Amino acid sequence: MIIGILGGGQLARMLALAGHPMGHRFVFLDPAPDACAATLGELLVAPYDDQNALAQLAQKVDVVTFDFENVPATSLAFLAQKKVPVFPPPAALQAAQDRLVEKNLFRQLGIATADYVAVASRDDLTQAVAHLGLPAILKTRTEGYDGKGQWLLRTQTDVENAWSELAGRAAILEAFIAFEREVSAIGVRGQSGETLFYSLAENTHRDGVLFQTLSTTNDPMQARAEQQTSLLLNALSYVGVIAVEFFQVGDNLLANEFAPRVHNSGHWTIEGTETSQFENHLRAVTGQPLGQTSVRGHFAMLNLIGSMPEAQAVLAIPGAHLHDYGKAPRPGRKIGHVTVHCEDHTPSLPNTLLDLL
Ligand code: AMP
Repeated sequence: MIIGILGGGQLARMLALAGHPMGHRFVFLDPAPDACAATLGELLVAPYDDQNALAQLAQKVDVVTFDFENVPATSLAFLAQKKVPVFPPPAALQAAQDRLVEKNLFRQLGIATADYVAVASRDDLTQAVAHLGLPAILKTRTEGYDGKGQWLLRTQTDVENAWSELAGRAAILEAFIAFEREVSAIGVRGQSGETLFYSLAENTHRDGVLFQTLSTTNDPMQARAEQQTSLLLNALSYVGVIAVEFFQVGDNLLANEFAPRVHNSGHWTIEGTETSQFENHLRAVTGQPLGQTSVRGHFAMLNLIGSMPEAQAVLAIPGAHLHDYGKAPRPGRKIGHVTVHCEDHTPSLPNTLLDLL
């Protein structure tokens, strides 16, 4: 099939890498002429809401998917008018684009979250702080990612500063959760409703950006996370890969957010499972049977942010696999990752790798 992807970043690139062996071809739409997926297909360079480019894409492809959340909903509606199937469903994208809608959806489905209050004015913020107490986290409702558009409020001065930086954008205030672990459930649902899950991924963030993921086996929270994620998948008649990020507090899981796409915390599935999240996403959106998600051992994944270590040194580490996205290095930019197949029952990154960064 010919698959259109809105977005030509590393996720689109890894989707294409998984899709070529199955005979698929790819057309990417991305405003950046140097989008890193471009070497694996045709690249249309245009803004995501450019109707000429969207019409061109619609003519060229059998199905459309996306590699990031901030694709305008109007673009998906336009593609639907052109009778091109779009997966995951646009309703999932719309919910994930707005933290208030997303959290309300979790709650409606009985999925626990941190307490939160919508903030549209200075008065709302005062009342929200009175209601939730400090510390709390203020987050813009839209366009926040990787820790951007959020402020940890510990003191009244933090509240004042965050309010002025918010600059009138709609937001939510969330109770601060002193979680024990952050885990993500990555699931895939096919067009027939068939659903499979990967082993939970245990995530560590630095400055709001994912730093490392450890795969788990027989995690005590696996069944609960799957049950919660299934509620979302079924409610949205979802097709494709989804990632739901949870905070674990005691024996409880609180859903933080979901991504209607393949996810950074699932990159370890390329080497670590029978069928990677990328292959399964493509199987789902093209209406094929899903592949098994069984694990092949213990895996750790480390993001390469801002600069690449020497390939020679990484590849000298037993069990290490290097992924270089071919992106120009810039501070704070994800430009690659390393997955390490670990011998131990509890995976951890070898110091030899951490020393390279
Ligand atoms: P988010 O953009 O919502 O995924 O937040 C980025 C990171 O900030 C999360 O992965 C957590 O490490 C942290 N974080 C977000 N919300 C909360 C919260 N309510 N309580 C504590 N930490 C949080």
